Amino acid sequence: MTVLKRAIVTGRVSHAYLFEGPPGVGKRSAAVGLAMALNCDVAQAGNPDQACGTCESCRRIAGGLHPDVVTFAPDGTQILMEQAQEIVALGQRRPHEGRGRVVIVDDADRLNLSASNCLLKTLEEPSAGNHLILVTSAPDRLLATIRSRTQRVRFRSVLPALLLEIGVRRGLVASGVDVQVAAVVAGGCVSRFLELATNTEDHSIRDATAVLREAARGRGIAPILDAAAELGDKESKQRLPEALALLGRVYRDALVIAVGAPDLAVLAAADARAEGSATVGDRSLVPPWDLPVPGLGRALGAVLEAEAALAGNVNPVMAIEHLLLNLRREERVTG
Ligand SMILES: [Zn+2]
Repeated sequence: MTVLKRAIVTGRVSHAYLFEGPPGVGKRSAAVGLAMALNCDVAQAGNPDQACGTCESCRRIAGGLHPDVVTFAPDGTQILMEQAQEIVALGQRRPHEGRGRVVIVDDADRLNLSASNCLLKTLEEPSAGNHLILVTSAPDRLLATIRSRTQRVRFRSVLPALLLEIGVRRGLVASGVDVQVAAVVAGGCVSRFLELATNTEDHSIRDATAVLREAARGRGIAPILDAAAELGDKESKQRLPEALALLGRVYRDALVIAVGAPDLAVLAAADARAEGSATVGDRSLVPPWDLPVPGLGRALGAVLEAEAALAGNVNPVMAIEHLLLNLRREERVTG
């Protein structure tokens, strides 16, 4: 987060931030990290943005025990007026002991109307040493008057390759095919990825891997299309976005292999490494395609279109049928 680092290094940490982005991409951790960097007892002069993580202040902040780092979350489904009043009261006083008080408002989109209005003045002008961080995955649900009083910091989905790196740091074997599949279907969310990659009870990952293996071992796209066709029928609507993410990744990987950039493939690289193969892409979870590059591109486009249709509340069965039609047409053109 270079924006935040720069703010700390230059001593211009805003008094009100809005950390926005999809769930599980590290917004809360960044808020706690900012609080640590502001209050660390031993942060080096050269690297004021690097909290040590081990001093008394850092440990108390990490443990949620520091009096100047306070988190508010919805009480039930809403953040209420009484909670907002507590925040206002904190914002009028200087920090107890730290250099900066950090008030984190988790799921800030749940602030109800009166609580939102109550916070406006504090967001605009808290007393010195106070920093409010509103955390949300639904920034559009906040009042415009709240948004305009905060500095927005956008957090993005984490790419599959980076998820794998994080997995390795957590002791997961990145070449494990299940782990690779988890990285693709986690939707860019670190916590979801770790949950999927470490939960051996989850059949969907193993099922998906089995389908891809079958496809890769000479049966081409048929097993994938069969599995996709079933998705439309069953009550598996919740799994549909994951299945489409995986399907999109299969075509994407096939494309990057076809244009000579196999290092960028996620699933292909996975299996090749798992099999101890020196060359990436010759043994992979990606089916042996006969499709030319434009055909692969059109197929990927069809998957993206289906994803967009689902996000726009199109009937899932229709979206899948339309997608299968497009994919089969590409197969026929070359087949
Ligand atoms: Zn420290």
